[in-house]
Amino acid sequence: MKMGDYNPLSNWDVPITVVGAGPVGMLLALQLDRLGIPHLLAERNLHTTQWPKMDLTSTRSMEILRVLGLANEYRALEGSVDVDANFDCVFPTRVLGDGRKVLGEWKLPSVRAQMAEIRQNNDGSQPAEPGQRCTQIVFEAWVKDIVRTRTSCVQSRFGWTYVGHEETRDGIATTFVDQAGVTHVIRSKYLVACDGGGSRVRKAAGIKMIGGPMPLQLHLVHFKSQELARELDGRRFWHAFPIHGGFLIDQDGRDTFTAHFAVDQLPPGPIDPYELVYRVLGGFDQKHAIKIDEILVHSNWNPNFAVAECYHSESLKVFLAGDAAHRNPPHGGYGMNSGVADAFDLGWRLAALLKGYGGDLLLRSYDLERRPMMIKALERSHRHAMEHVKFHTMLPADRTILEQETPEAEALRRQIRDFLTASGPDTIDRGVELDLRYHSPVIYQDGSPEREWSPRRYVPSTRPGSRVPHVFLRDGTTSIYDLFGREWTLVHFVDGDDDSSASEVFSTAADQLEFPLKRVILRDEPHARRIWERPLVLVRPDTHVAWRGTEEELARQDVLEILSVVSGNVPFSGYQPMSGVYVEEFKKLVAPFWSRDENANSQASIAGEDF
Ligand SMILES: Cc1cc2nc3c(=O)[nH]c(=O)nc-3n(C[C@H](O)[C@H](O)[C@H](O)COP(=O)(O)OP(=O)(O)OC[C@H]3O[C@@H](n4cnc5c(N)ncnc54)[C@H](O)[C@@H]3O)c2cc1C
Repeated sequence: MKMGDYNPLSNWDVPITVVGAGPVGMLLALQLDRLGIPHLLAERNLHTTQWPKMDLTSTRSMEILRVLGLANEYRALEGSVDVDANFDCVFPTRVLGDGRKVLGEWKLPSVRAQMAEIRQNNDGSQPAEPGQRCTQIVFEAWVKDIVRTRTSCVQSRFGWTYVGHEETRDGIATTFVDQAGVTHVIRSKYLVACDGGGSRVRKAAGIKMIGGPMPLQLHLVHFKSQELARELDGRRFWHAFPIHGGFLIDQDGRDTFTAHFAVDQLPPGPIDPYELVYRVLGGFDQKHAIKIDEILVHSNWNPNFAVAECYHSESLKVFLAGDAAHRNPPHGGYGMNSGVADAFDLGWRLAALLKGYGGDLLLRSYDLERRPMMIKALERSHRHAMEHVKFHTMLPADRTILEQETPEAEALRRQIRDFLTASGPDTIDRGVELDLRYHSPVIYQDGSPEREWSPRRYVPSTRPGSRVPHVFLRDGTTSIYDLFGREWTLVHFVDGDDDSSASEVFSTAADQLEFPLKRVILRDEPHARRIWERPLVLVRPDTHVAWRGTEEELARQDVLEILSVVSGNVPFSGYQPMSGVYVEEFKKLVAPFWSRDENANSQASIAGEDF
């Protein structure tokens, strides 16, 4: 490898190198910073994304931002959509123009209304936070500012491109080239690939993807139009899916929109972004021209559908997070949101190893826990994409019929409306988002039966491995999530003046093992106690249950052994690996577009980004 000029950083040693400062790399940086772990965050671009990709920060991502103390700040950002804006999806014959009929609607309440619902239904079934509409453009710029101005453990290097890495006996030597052509070799213990869908780190680590690009290419146009905003006044929506197959996203509740259209349905030749917008707004093959104030960006992009064969290298030195580990079409909004959860999850594991109390099983279980959740999300995303296909198969060859005032047309519209109503919104899969259940040797199971899992529904549970349920305490405003420590938390529910000393044994054992534990005694919280099912619950830094029990059970158990299991030093004796059937099922699903050509995964790279 050609070496550039000497740079003092060449001799730098840092525990973790993170490649890629997209949303996932930057969230990982914030999590590591919070846990006091110095690291290097290297990004090839000087700027954050200019592409309006993610437009929904999910309930789970918002919970994570709440734990990081950032949820309110994010909602209040200039570019975040107002808390009174709806999340409605409409299926019109055309977005603008006379004769327009709405074939179906998925009505979803605003953030304010969802917050009221969360307060009203304080039964553990709700997330700690509703989702938030906001583009990735705004999200990334905001997080970058935090990374640069409010952290003390992050060494950020924008303009550094990863070119390769080499595993050494005690770590990794990662090579970057900066924008002046200078080569930097960074030695670290761990390397994390947050370098997106075309991940060079993943390829260099020899980890393959299962799946690939879907046989569909779209062109997106991100634009501003005051006139469109005025035309839509009084009937604003979040997403519109007109019958021509294109779609329109209202990005900020003001004047910024994104139009998408399938490339193979456009006239051959260069794509005119203005014409594409008119086509998306109009019905059938007609265009509806409006005044566009500015075309911000436009490009082709490909939806992808894939998951890595493993989220880490065999050596346990290289880890994948975000799109480097999985890629899915926007349906359901599980792309960036799953990556945010990866980052939140991986950060504490690496910190545990570096602080000395964690064992290798914590690293191995990152894949065992996160990948099955991602496969569930991908399957659900596939289902949502197929529902759109079904919607289109219901449309008549002569689509103008859909706007006619005849009994036949009305019957057809009713049939389509019924289908869409039954199909339901694709962004409220509470099971996928909240019923996250981990199975691994670092979960101390208690023998309780596992409830059936449903993608749509979340039934609160503290069964070990589960995400802990959110519940407001007696004061009506404090979420139990707000009491967690930065790392581990033992929640102990105590009645009245009852003695809380039973849980002291945890603090003593934690001190002995240098295991960072916050003990939270909750007195007279019978409602939360009922929802949490046990008086003692050990919560991991990622808000999942590691162990739970009663005072009597605790008296019979060896706390040192519990902590050794949950910290990944000793496997849980009753651990049963999950059957690999779910991976085989996934392989069948992606078989039609699994090219097995690793280069195919980065073919849609454009303007310095991998879509
Ligand atoms: C049209 C569209 C709509 C979407 N909608 C949603 C949605 O509603 N919800 C959702 O959750 N997700 C959505 N997604 C997916 C979401 O955008 C991605 O999942 C998300 O960007 C992944 O984040 P990441 O940080 O893992 O990767 P990326 O965002 O790709 O970031 C990777 C970073 O690594 C950098 N990098 C790459 N190679 C190198 C290198 N060699 N050296 C240094 N740096 C490097 C890149 O420059 C980039 O900054 C959508 C995507 C698209 C295309």
